Amino acid sequence: MDQKVRDYIDKYGVTEETRRFLEKTPKMYIGGEWLFASSGKTISVEEPSTGAELTHIPAATVEDVDRAVAAARQAFAEGEWSDMKAAQRERILRRIADLLEQNTQTIAEIESIDAGKAITGCIAVDVAGSIDLLHYMAGWPTKIEGATRPASLEGENFAYTLKEPVGVVGAIVPWNWPLNMAIWKIAAPLAAGCTLVVKPAQLTSLSLLFFAELCEQAGLPPGVLNIVTGSGRLVGEHLARHPGVSKISFTGSTEVGRQVGKSAMDHVAHVTLELGGKSPMIAFEDADVQRIVDATQASIFFNAGQVCSAGSRLYVQESIYEEVVRAVSERANAMKHSPGLDPESEIGPVISRSQFDSICDYIEIGKQEGAEVVCGGEALDRDGYFIRPTLLGRTTNAMRVVQEEIFGPVLVVQAFKDEAEAVKLANDNEYGLAASVFTRDISRAHRVAKAMEAGTVWINTHDMVDTILPFGGYKNSGIGKDLGPEQLEHFLETKSVWLLM
Ligand code: NAP
Ligand code: MG
Repeated sequence: MDQKVRDYIDKYGVTEETRRFLEKTPKMYIGGEWLFASSGKTISVEEPSTGAELTHIPAATVEDVDRAVAAARQAFAEGEWSDMKAAQRERILRRIADLLEQNTQTIAEIESIDAGKAITGCIAVDVAGSIDLLHYMAGWPTKIEGATRPASLEGENFAYTLKEPVGVVGAIVPWNWPLNMAIWKIAAPLAAGCTLVVKPAQLTSLSLLFFAELCEQAGLPPGVLNIVTGSGRLVGEHLARHPGVSKISFTGSTEVGRQVGKSAMDHVAHVTLELGGKSPMIAFEDADVQRIVDATQASIFFNAGQVCSAGSRLYVQESIYEEVVRAVSERANAMKHSPGLDPESEIGPVISRSQFDSICDYIEIGKQEGAEVVCGGEALDRDGYFIRPTLLGRTTNAMRVVQEEIFGPVLVVQAFKDEAEAVKLANDNEYGLAASVFTRDISRAHRVAKAMEAGTVWINTHDMVDTILPFGGYKNSGIGKDLGPEQLEHFLETKSVWLLM
């Protein structure tokens, strides 16, 4: 660990458990064993508020992936998890949730240090959301059931369906919500009785490795959850292509998701893809302006804008354009920038040098395209990867900054005349992850919600998430759903059984 990172951690202080975890060299978790990469190679990991080295994670090889898939297949075949009494599976899942809750501060600190995330949001959203989801999915194993169906046949017969776990799940996770996105991938398949091989993003593997320690303590049998760390192009690609994997569950960019989907099709695996977004917010002239300001805080400026469903395009009715732009930019300018461990941090650094460069490039592109920089528009002059919350005004849908996912704290805003124009502008995009509409007119709210080409639509808010409601994209934002009973279905095969008496 670089001295700069040590000084940073000492300045704010962390739990003894966090120190213990960060001081040891991380290992992967395969077949219930803690292992280095078979090649002995590692990948250096940075702390984003200093840009200095935090630790090294194992750089898994394809042989390590093979080993993890073999462990998951063996665990599945032996049935210690898939055939375990459903009530017992529920108990273990709840125990994992309880251990996570008991370790909230530690895992939030690990996440904050590894990903640069503001600790307060990390506790309230990332960790709390993960605990809720584990509890929600823990409720399902005793309730997974098939159906009896009256077949129209000559003669006495009996037909029914069985719901069975699909088998080994390969899960690939992004870096923006490292623990939370991993739990989105893990909780449902565990509830269904599947076993897993999970590949976290190489930028942020630590919280998931800590979580695996908790699973071990909770009594999850060896081989049920396996974690391989390393590069997407090598480890992720090999996992997606692996014939031993029955289902691929991917969250990340649309570009990589397309590749992963194609690889999975080589061996006709089930696929869920949760991909990118460029989600519109439509503000009508009767809207509560404070609600719009709050929504920008909760999405495009939360987690430094590294939010897949962030409201990143704001369309405002002409008569309130100036008022909304002023209110949003005043609040954005007042946000406290500081490293994630500062409990008062409202906006931490973005994840990496390359993400920082890409966001800064987009801001420049926006300027060249003729957008007006209303606030922000630049990086902070300090160590680490801090970017000011940025509002680009008077944009048009022809601009790249309006069409492409920037994945940083950059909001583009433009005016519209009427409802028809607003709906047309909002839907004019390759993505369809989410959308929101701000109005006090209840009929218009529902009419626009129905017209949105998006997997989730919020009315008078943005970026609310709950375990009970499915989340997933239309158009190039993905295939399939995470969360809710809809997600559980993705990890179950349906078998039809016939009996002619
Ligand atoms: P990414 O570059 O697509 O990476 C996602 C994961 O895929 C990482 O673990 C990455 O590994 C791995 N990967 C990279 N290349 C691969 C390949 N050829 N084969 C298999 N795996 C590969 O996305 P990201 O930059 O981490 O995350 C940001 C994106 O995720 C944004 O587009 C965002 O909108 C999207 N996202 C979507 C949702 C949703 O629910 N829809 C949620 C969160 C994020 P390494 O990076 O370790 O090499
Ligand atoms: Mg990191």
